Amino acid sequence: MNRFLTSLRASALVFLFTSLTTPLAAQIPDKQDPSSKEDIQNALTGGVPLGRWKEGLLFEGISPQPWLKSAANYFPGTEPIQPEEMRITFMGTSPMVRPGQAATSILVELGNGDKLVFDLGEGSIANYIAGGHALNELKHVFITHLHVDHYGALPYLWAFGTWGGGWHENLNVYGPSGRTPEYGTEKLVEGMKMMMGWHTDAFSVFPVGKGWDIKVHEFDFRDNGGVVYDRNGAKVIHWQRSHAKDGASGYRLDWNGLCFVWTGDGRPNKLDIEYAKGCDVYVTEMQVELMSISSGVQGVPPFLGRYTIDTHHTVGYGAGYMASKIEPRLLMTTHQAFDPYQNEEATAQIRHHWKGPYHFGAPDGVTVNVTRESIWVRDGILPDFPNARSPQFDFSNGQLVVPHPPTSRKEIQEPFVRENEIDPALYYPEGYMPELLPEWPVEGDLVVPLEAAPDDLVDGMGESWRLREANRKALEEQNK
Ligand SMILES: [Zn+2]
Ligand SMILES: [Zn+2]
Repeated sequence: MNRFLTSLRASALVFLFTSLTTPLAAQIPDKQDPSSKEDIQNALTGGVPLGRWKEGLLFEGISPQPWLKSAANYFPGTEPIQPEEMRITFMGTSPMVRPGQAATSILVELGNGDKLVFDLGEGSIANYIAGGHALNELKHVFITHLHVDHYGALPYLWAFGTWGGGWHENLNVYGPSGRTPEYGTEKLVEGMKMMMGWHTDAFSVFPVGKGWDIKVHEFDFRDNGGVVYDRNGAKVIHWQRSHAKDGASGYRLDWNGLCFVWTGDGRPNKLDIEYAKGCDVYVTEMQVELMSISSGVQGVPPFLGRYTIDTHHTVGYGAGYMASKIEPRLLMTTHQAFDPYQNEEATAQIRHHWKGPYHFGAPDGVTVNVTRESIWVRDGILPDFPNARSPQFDFSNGQLVVPHPPTSRKEIQEPFVRENEIDPALYYPEGYMPELLPEWPVEGDLVVPLEAAPDDLVDGMGESWRLREANRKALEEQNK
């Protein structure tokens, strides 16, 4: 913290000097006797020896970590995750999709290199891409319940994640059972596969590998506290939420002494207190208790809003009450409209019961850095027209393997329409004719030893793997 502020101050001073002074040398004051220790302390750190002075309600342990490039903004791609760190990014933050807010999704990145996706609402994929994540890195998706605002982007991730290099690892979808099989996650995935029949067959002219196989991890929604994921030192458990229909669940992730809870949707409940108790970052959905005004803004008749909330959701007062029982290091709310008229009111309602650290998990892009020492929340900068990341591969065996496509145009398209394609020689300018690839160029899998591949290709596609390997080693050292 200190280092951070100090360097911030130092760079501000340097900026002042270099921008306001010409020539620089003439402005250096004569060397004088130093001020007293006490004067320096009073002037620079508010009287606190080498520390931060108390300020407002910014609590102990809520402060930017020294490696952050900016205390205000997170620019994806500029800060590799630290070995001991958990980084949470809100990729979709609203139940109602709107241009400024995708439907709900939260990404949790762990220092061990794992990326876990909690819910995957409509539109959130755009934020993952803008946030610098290759779609073939997102292999573990935890769905809290089967309302479409929590899984709407799954077909897209599956199809384009496979196309974009998702060849060597299955997509894993974790989700609750329903009271009867037709309402469970297995059935949802089966239905999605049926809906995507044309698409997957069409995309089978590309490399596929394991891409179309989805591993569904459906758990019994009644098995409160049951473990749904236990890998690389990370553990995820689930419990039931009261959200009008059986099958809604909350998740708790524990890793390296850090804990994250995403409640999904639901009414405040005793089970939430039991399973989320003492968690570092407690994220709950929240609707502000402002029925008639927000109804007007959101285009929902007030009686419909009232009934929806009282059967399904947590109001601001409820979120604050829950936090006062759970006592997290940080309370966050999401799945909420991020509108100025609501935000002040939301804070006031939360504060009725909860006096501890609180932040909005909205709008899209909000990023939370979590370590055992401190937590910090920033706006994430998600460009509208991003440079998407290339597919990421594990190069442990020294090879890039591109599986042979399962099908070809000839097998899935009658010749007629292909024969009517315009001869490319007619539209490419004279003297310019690229090497076209109308047929997949190799028989069988393409296996490229890394030394035979262009360096920039290997560098770019191995970024996540190299960071993961380095972080896991560092983590092992730290935990020895
Ligand atoms: Zn929802
Ligand atoms: Zn819901």
